[in-house]
Amino acid sequence: MDDDIAWLGGWEGYRVCGVERFEGVTAEIWISLEPLVGGGAVCEGCGEAAPALHEVTVRRVRDLPILDARTWLEVPRRRVLCPRCGPKLERLSWLGRYSRVTRRLAESVARLCRFLPIKRVAEFFALHWNTVKTIDKRALKQKLGAIDLSGLTVIAMDEFAIQKGHRYATVVVDPTVKRVLWVGRGRGREDVRPFFELLGEDGRKKLKAVVMDMNAAYENEVRHQCPKAEVVFDLFHVVAKYGREVIDRVRVDEANRLTDDKKARKVVKSAKWLLLRNRDTIKKDEDRIRLDELLAANQALMTVYVLKDDLKELWRQRNKTDARAAWDSWFQRALESGITPLVAFARKLKAYLPGILAHATWPLHTSLIEGINNKIKVIKRMAYGFRDDEYFFLKIRAAFPGIQ
Ligand SMILES: [Zn+2]
Repeated sequence: MDDDIAWLGGWEGYRVCGVERFEGVTAEIWISLEPLVGGGAVCEGCGEAAPALHEVTVRRVRDLPILDARTWLEVPRRRVLCPRCGPKLERLSWLGRYSRVTRRLAESVARLCRFLPIKRVAEFFALHWNTVKTIDKRALKQKLGAIDLSGLTVIAMDEFAIQKGHRYATVVVDPTVKRVLWVGRGRGREDVRPFFELLGEDGRKKLKAVVMDMNAAYENEVRHQCPKAEVVFDLFHVVAKYGREVIDRVRVDEANRLTDDKKARKVVKSAKWLLLRNRDTIKKDEDRIRLDELLAANQALMTVYVLKDDLKELWRQRNKTDARAAWDSWFQRALESGITPLVAFARKLKAYLPGILAHATWPLHTSLIEGINNKIKVIKRMAYGFRDDEYFFLKIRAAFPGIQ
């Protein structure tokens, strides 16, 4: 059996000197290794062969399972006395420094962590939750490394909640290749400053447009750091805001007005999600009929619903003159509607007009920000983050490595 196991191999510089199999609820295989006769040890510090051994400690290390059995190695870890570096660990190609799993097991763990929560991966390999997390974090750090920020002309920035209502973070994206460039804690001016420092003076000068939500902190910092860059407001956030501040408020007002008609009141009250969705994306015929009937019976809801679609038209314009004409027409109709939440929203939005019109020059598909937003929620739900922001942020970067 020793020879067969040795044939599985992969422990460069070492040979199998004993194998034992233990039956139990889970089978285990224990493999004892020893250095090849005459095999010199290489110093971890300088990579040179070291003449003298300093000491040897036997370590227990997990390797990939062999069929049904959890597999353990007993490895004599040698320390050498290097003439250049002093006492150092022996460098092994298949086992990292102080690692309790072989390199190939670590690679398998990291690969599975791309698709599964830590808990599942830990169960699959029968490893501790912390071990799996440490392996994945290290692998991500190594893979992602320092980011190349040269040649950027357009960036998008967005905030997301680490813990709703408590802690927020900011993500900066290169929209042209869908690559996450930077993730940092907070959403204030000082919080995003490190990104602009990383970008450097040259990079800041080259930036032509920054796409964002209507967020004063981001806007002020961008204007301060990159005076030549245009601030562009993205559609996704404006429409989401419109949904919350106009459609939903009108829906509640209308429901309250229908106190005498209990049935109609219930229809309006329960239509929240129906009204916030795009008509084209409603799959069920009955839902679409429900929406149409609701709008037909309710003038105010119809108005704010139609004006939502017209608002989106603004972002379809590809030159500022057309965008301006579309805005004027929309703004006029919003004011003439007499619907209080709509009028208030339109007035507020007017202050952001330059950034809305700028979108005609710097078009960005709205699904990018929406997609990143949704993906972050999924990563969070998989319980990666929370306790370790750094790891959470690495996961976000790994999810958007960019189109090559
Ligand atoms: Zn050395």
